[in-house]
Amino acid sequence: MTSIATLGSHCSLQVLKGAKDEGLKTILVCEKKREKLYKRFPFIDELIIVDTFKEVLDQKCQSILEENNAVLIPHGTLVAQMSSEEIESIKTPVFGNKWILRWESDREMKEKLMREANLPMPNPVTEPKEIEKLVIVKRQGAAGGKGYFMAANEEDYNSKRNQLISEGIISKDETLYIQEYAAGVLAYLTFFYSPLKEELEFFGVDQRHESDIEGLGRIPAEQQMKSNKVPSFNVIGNSPLVLRESLLDEVYKMGENFVDAAKRVVTPGMNGPFCIEGVYDENAKFTSFEFSARIVAGSNIYMDGSPYYSLLFNETMSMGKRIAREVKIATESKQLDKITT
Ligand code: AMP
Repeated sequence: MTSIATLGSHCSLQVLKGAKDEGLKTILVCEKKREKLYKRFPFIDELIIVDTFKEVLDQKCQSILEENNAVLIPHGTLVAQMSSEEIESIKTPVFGNKWILRWESDREMKEKLMREANLPMPNPVTEPKEIEKLVIVKRQGAAGGKGYFMAANEEDYNSKRNQLISEGIISKDETLYIQEYAAGVLAYLTFFYSPLKEELEFFGVDQRHESDIEGLGRIPAEQQMKSNKVPSFNVIGNSPLVLRESLLDEVYKMGENFVDAAKRVVTPGMNGPFCIEGVYDENAKFTSFEFSARIVAGSNIYMDGSPYYSLLFNETMSMGKRIAREVKIATESKQLDKITT
């Protein structure tokens, strides 16, 4: 029988609970320091204790996963803590497409895939001296918004960058990515594409709560002006959102365009869960600044099922359970190679 494995962080509880509900064995690669936390959850069948998550690449860890016919579910922690080369070298079958995770981590590749998918994006700014409007400055990879900052012009950019370097938050030789700031209502749209059914499902929407940009909004302008702290976009948690129904058709179209584009540029395409992240402006026009090519932590809100999945399934269906269902069906029909890489 196939088992489901993941790294102990991000959305691992939801993933393993979903797997257990589908009758699959569950394995958690767990850092020593979090052993006590994860032992609280009875649906985790086996813990592989490690000092760091990179040990998932070691022979010892891979052998245990192999003995258990494990499928590894990638999430944000894997992308944040391992290089693309390391992820691609994982021998355990990875759910979805491990090759597309490189397209998520590398800013230039990311932009290329988003253009290929025709997603409306904020303009990138190639050099600090070209900053004309408010911009957001980002780091490479899934940094979770830590060390991001906003700048209004080149001088502002330089002074904030220098401040973050002196505070040790970013490093001097780090390549930063500058993009026009898009104002509006944040919406992180999560989908699931099933290569078995060749069908796209819209799972739900979440919003991210980011410190300390969000905290700053609670302070009167007078105090804000006196603060010389550079606010960052570090994600603290998520909350649910539903969209005006009239926006749904466009949402499905964006998801489908993304799946089609991924099929063209990175075989075998965008299989499994993914998220298109952006804002709706005053004309309900969506601008997308990011995608995640795997399950996002925002899906943790819907451990008991999402509003949109309750329209598609007559049962409680979390994203973790949806993934496990796909693995189960693929195992039974001997099509695991179709859903893993
Ligand atoms: P990211 O790592 O690109 O997901 O960005 C982290 C956070 O920064 C997002 O959740 C947004 O709050 C914010 N953000 C990123 N890009 C933009 C943008 N172009 N305009 C406005 N906010 C942005």
